[in-house]
Parts: sequence; structure tokens; C-alpha cells
Amino acid sequence: MWRATPRPSRTESLKVIDARFVTSAVDVAGIPRDGVPHVALVGRSNVGKSSLINALARNRTLARTSAAAGKTRLANLYRFDVEGGPGGPGRWSVHLADLPGYGYARGGRESVAELRGIAERYFTYDGIAGVIHLVDARHPGLDSDVDAAEWLTTLNMTTATVATKVDKLSRSDRTRNLKALERQLGTAALPMSAVSGEGLDDLWTLIARLSRHRP
Ligand code: GDP
Repeated sequence: MWRATPRPSRTESLKVIDARFVTSAVDVAGIPRDGVPHVALVGRSNVGKSSLINALARNRTLARTSAAAGKTRLANLYRFDVEGGPGGPGRWSVHLADLPGYGYARGGRESVAELRGIAERYFTYDGIAGVIHLVDARHPGLDSDVDAAEWLTTLNMTTATVATKVDKLSRSDRTRNLKALERQLGTAALPMSAVSGEGLDDLWTLIARLSRHRP
């Protein structure tokens, strides 16, 4: 009997062994000094950070979606223990650091200034491998996102941009919005959906490159 051979996925060899919430750090002293690199997630409130963290954990519920905003904290840390993926076989770990969201649905410039105050303390931590800036694929051109992108370029960190909730867009809106985002933010955004799983393999590839190839 003939059987179709499944096409191997690019991250076929990447396996999430464990994913767990570590701590809600209120200051840099509260960050565990365990040598595990951090990849920081930055974005507006409701952009989909919690959903993305849960999707990266293969839909285990680590992060509470739409949790009360505005609580004073530096970062919620989630630790992922992973086997293989880009860089070859072997066990590695990363902390995803969920920084406070800036602004609300149409958040303005003040809210980015507020985040900056908190985040700049976090960015004094020397174990940060990179930053992922999340923007909502449905709303290109928000002042707060453009301001945040400009601010991130001043930090001298490797930064990638992810466009969330692409499942909510038609083909044509998606193409148009991704182009608009690239023009406004000065960099192409990786399309992503925590609902359909689109983009998760690419994001894992990115996280592996950042975390495993630290100097
Ligand atoms: P956070 O404030 O950035 O942590 O955002 P959440 O993860 O709490 O998401 C905010 C809202 O957007 C929730 O109602 C989620 O269910 C929804 N959401 C998040 N990601 C996606 C996605 O990829 N697709 C769709 N359709 N909804 C999403």
C-alpha cells in the first residue's frame, strides 16, 4: 500500500522538554542568576504576548491571557528547556521575559515612556540574548509601536519584530498590513498566530539562534 511521506518540518528536531513559570521579578536583583539567557518580549497590552508564550509551550497554559494590566513588575520569567533545533542536537534553555505591556488598544506616546522607565532597568541585566517586539498585524502604524521600535534601536540589542493575530486578516489585508508595518517600523515582521500556530516554527528558530549562539 502506498503511503504519503510527511514533509519534514524545519524544526522537526526541536522539542520542548519543559516549560514553566519561574518568577515575577520586581527588580533586577529578582532575576535568577543561573546563566540561562533571556529573550525579552515587548509589545502593547493585548498584543498577544501571553498567548504566544503559551503557544510556544505547545499550548500548556503558562501565562494568563488578559491578566490584570498595569501591575508594577519588571518581568514575568518563563523557562523553556529544549532539545535540538537550529544549532543541532543537545539540550538548551532560555528564559522568555514578558515585560509589562505599553498602552492600550490605541495607546499613545506616554505609555511607551512609562514602559521605557521600567524596561530600562530590566535591560541593565547582562544576560539578554535578544528582544522580540510584538505588534498587532491588524493595526499597523500606531504611534506607540513606532515609538517603541525607535526606542528599541537605541538599546543596541538584537531585535526581531513579530506581527501577531494574522489569522484574523484576509489574504489581501495581511499583505497590505505587513508591507505597511515594514515601512513604518523599518524592518520586516514575522507573521504569527497563536491560534493557527503559523510562524511558531520560525519563532523557535529565531529563539534558538539568539539563545544558543551567544558570545
Ligand atoms: P497580552 O496582553 O499581550 O498578554 O495579550 P493576550 O495574550 O492576553 O491576548 C489578548 C487577546 O487577544 C486575547 O483575547 C487572546 O485570546 C487574543 N489573541 C492573542 N493572540 C491571538 C492570535 O494569534 N489570534 C487571535 N485570533 N487572537 C489572539
